[in-house]
Amino acid sequence: MIDIAVLSPATARGLIEALGAPVVLLDEQGIARALSPAMKALIPGLEAGKPLALLLRDPDLIEAIEQVSREGGREVIELVERVPVERTFRIFIAPFPGQGPRHATLLTFQDLSEQRVIERMRVDFVANASHELRTPLASLLGFVETLQGPARNDERARDRFLGIMREQGLRMARLVDDLLSLSRIEQRAHVAPDTPVDLVGISREIVDSLTLMAREREVTLKLALPTAPLTVAGDRDELLRLMENLAENAIKYGKRGGEVVITVCAQDNEACLCVRDDGPGIAPEHLPRLTERFYRVDTAASREAGGTGLGLAIVKHIVLRHRGRLTIESKPGEGAVFRAVLPRYEQRAAASER
Ligand code: ADP
Repeated sequence: MIDIAVLSPATARGLIEALGAPVVLLDEQGIARALSPAMKALIPGLEAGKPLALLLRDPDLIEAIEQVSREGGREVIELVERVPVERTFRIFIAPFPGQGPRHATLLTFQDLSEQRVIERMRVDFVANASHELRTPLASLLGFVETLQGPARNDERARDRFLGIMREQGLRMARLVDDLLSLSRIEQRAHVAPDTPVDLVGISREIVDSLTLMAREREVTLKLALPTAPLTVAGDRDELLRLMENLAENAIKYGKRGGEVVITVCAQDNEACLCVRDDGPGIAPEHLPRLTERFYRVDTAASREAGGTGLGLAIVKHIVLRHRGRLTIESKPGEGAVFRAVLPRYEQRAAASER
């Protein structure tokens, strides 16, 4: 049994090393004497025998430790590390009983980095969504005012303006639909879909529904399908949406008069859905950001094509919900390949029986 009153240095070290939180015990000189594994993971260079100030050279932190060591009491400070990546910590500093006039100190770290990134994303998202809605809304209101004022009796202008207003209204409706789809998929992210859905049938449906759009851009749509059905554990509507978004993008951003090939094939225990175009492709610096909400390579081209900037974000969330993965390959000038790899239904069913 541990007697707290006569805690030996070895027991104190054992205690700290057993903690799940990132904790470090500094002696009166600020040298690390014991640290938990979570602390080592958080600041990899830190080890027993090293001064903390060597790794975290923040004057406020050093001053706060010095003060607690000198006078006791508790301090809480926030620390932002900028390199190698931005990280934010909240650090609780408390005195630890020692023998001399100065105190040893116990530092508990709370990593706020992820929380801060999420907060920033939420703020950016609201700003972006409002901006996307405000542009067509401003245009709509402008035309309403013109129709009420200078163009009141101009029949030709009225028809043209009403056409533009309809376009802007449809753009807003598409945006709201996409926002709602995204939020619905996200809400259900933790529940993997489990009904059998045949990717072959879905591909045929999508090709049928996009024939007109392909014809307008003089694009040849080709299907490379297995002879037998290929079933994944899925949500039919979401998978239709996934395929539609990828195929629509290939038609919209691929080459006018080019070719779009949709391939469905089995790969071991997985099913692969691949959409390839022979258009201008995407420069490498854009690839990692394509699935971010509202990220576009060319905003004007996207708007022109009726895009909301949410299509690939929706695709990514559908793939994640299906416990699959999405890869994008492209070289400028050589087209783009979007590949969704999903677990097959038989595999999922067998796993849930186990
Ligand atoms: P959007 O509504 O703008 O189409 P997406 O999220 O579907 O939004 O796509 C984001 C951006 O990725 C597009 O604006 C476009 O710049 C680029 N993109 C998507 N698919 C392709 C493709 N097949 N070829 C080239 N660029 C593409």
